[in-house]
Amino acid sequence: MNSKQKILILGAGIAGMYAAERLAEDQDSEVTLLEATGHLGGRCFSFFDEKSGETIDNGQHLFAGAYSDFFDFLTRCDAMEKVNGFGELKIPFYSPAKGDEYNLNLGDGSKSSLLFGILGQSYFTLPERLKLLKTARKLISMKHVDSSKTVAGFLHESGQTELSMRAFWSPLTIAILNTSPLNAPLTLLASALRKMFSENSGRPLLMFPTTNYADLFANYCHIMASRHAKIEYQARVKRIIINDGLAQAVELENGDILHADIIVSALPYHALRKVLSDDILALPGFKNLMFYRDSQILSAYLWYDKPIKTPAMFAFLNSAIQWGFNRRRLQPSESKFRYPSSFAFTVSDADSLKDVNRYEIADLFSEILGDSMFEFKGLQPAHCRVIRSYKATFEAYPELEKYRIEQETEIPNFVLCGDWTQTGLPATIEGAARSGRLAVEVLQK
Ligand SMILES: Cc1cc2nc3c(=O)[nH]c(=O)nc-3n(C[C@H](O)[C@H](O)[C@H](O)COP(=O)(O)OP(=O)(O)OC[C@H]3O[C@@H](n4cnc5c(N)ncnc54)[C@H](O)[C@@H]3O)c2cc1C
Repeated sequence: MNSKQKILILGAGIAGMYAAERLAEDQDSEVTLLEATGHLGGRCFSFFDEKSGETIDNGQHLFAGAYSDFFDFLTRCDAMEKVNGFGELKIPFYSPAKGDEYNLNLGDGSKSSLLFGILGQSYFTLPERLKLLKTARKLISMKHVDSSKTVAGFLHESGQTELSMRAFWSPLTIAILNTSPLNAPLTLLASALRKMFSENSGRPLLMFPTTNYADLFANYCHIMASRHAKIEYQARVKRIIINDGLAQAVELENGDILHADIIVSALPYHALRKVLSDDILALPGFKNLMFYRDSQILSAYLWYDKPIKTPAMFAFLNSAIQWGFNRRRLQPSESKFRYPSSFAFTVSDADSLKDVNRYEIADLFSEILGDSMFEFKGLQPAHCRVIRSYKATFEAYPELEKYRIEQETEIPNFVLCGDWTQTGLPATIEGAARSGRLAVEVLQK
């Protein structure tokens, strides 16, 4: 007779992968990870692009050097050597408006380098630089953050000028929270900056994968197999069956019913809303699911048939594009590429581009690049691929922080994780991994 405790984990994004891998360490448990699609990683996924002959991700991802749970996870997956860092973080900002360029220097993660980095920015006046520095340091060391405040509200109170808002705080906030400073909660920006600058264990401030996600997670299946844990792909959960105050089973879309002793949902909030019955959604602990809203990210990959030299990472002011990445520098390869140059561009909080089709995106981006950087002047991409992530992250806003749902629920054998659950962090890979750890800790209490 099999007396092992059956654990079902729903969703193989970072949160579900993290929780499944940790729970599978217990030999008295039988762990099954159920995933609706055919791949691991959830919102961190790769696919093959036929025209370029390259496997690309659904967008360029970056990691803060201060990520801890995610890096622990990668270490257990033997994948940390596939991550690299920007030594000193110097990001050139380009602009189609001539004379509006500057170099953002955030240093190497130490507080002293932040000080010299900001004080050395001649793009800002000296009083602006002093205010920037004072405000950045205040945010990093803030013990008590007013949870009702937006980032913009706080920055206006601290006397930031229009230029500091536009060229410094706005790009930083949108990059970290995928939300404009006007709506973004101050608590989340403060916690992310504190983590980046005070809890950094000596790693570079910003890091990146030197390979695609499929390769980064290549070892995960072997680890799970060695622990006799199962991963079921194309296993879309239709319904979580909760009776008599306990989670009993899940019904898959193909009609299969899988019984379990413990169910861990690592589904995004929008998917969880669909698989819970109305009476569960009405319980106090689940009601707050209705407060979550989506925020999108648009990623565009452009390939060129001539070599183009740029920094590995760059950014834009006064432009529809926010961030640019030279993929040939971030992910070099021994083998020959079909196109000598390849760039990934990211637009966070991308609602403004929702009605622009991919041909128009290619034209718009080429025009901005040509107007902003001499390296792209007169160039048209040989190939373009646009990826829209409509539900890239939850939209962060101050009230939501009060409503974010904990991993422990009022149903004792039903636990939640996912970047949207209460982690104190924005919707990031680190938040997802942390939520997986917190879910495991609830079960091990
Ligand atoms: C384009 C883009 C760029 C980003 N850039 C960064 C970045 O630079 N740095 C950073 O830290 N974060 C970034 N993020 C955010 C980060 O990717 C997410 O926060 C994180 O991956 C979320 O992980 P998760 O496990 O919580 O959820 P998900 O990755 O969404 O995982 C949920 C899983 O559940 C599965 N699922 C859904 N419904 C069902 C169902 N009914 N049955 C079974 N399975 C189901 C899904 O297929 C998915 O695999 C980015 C996100 C996007 C989209």
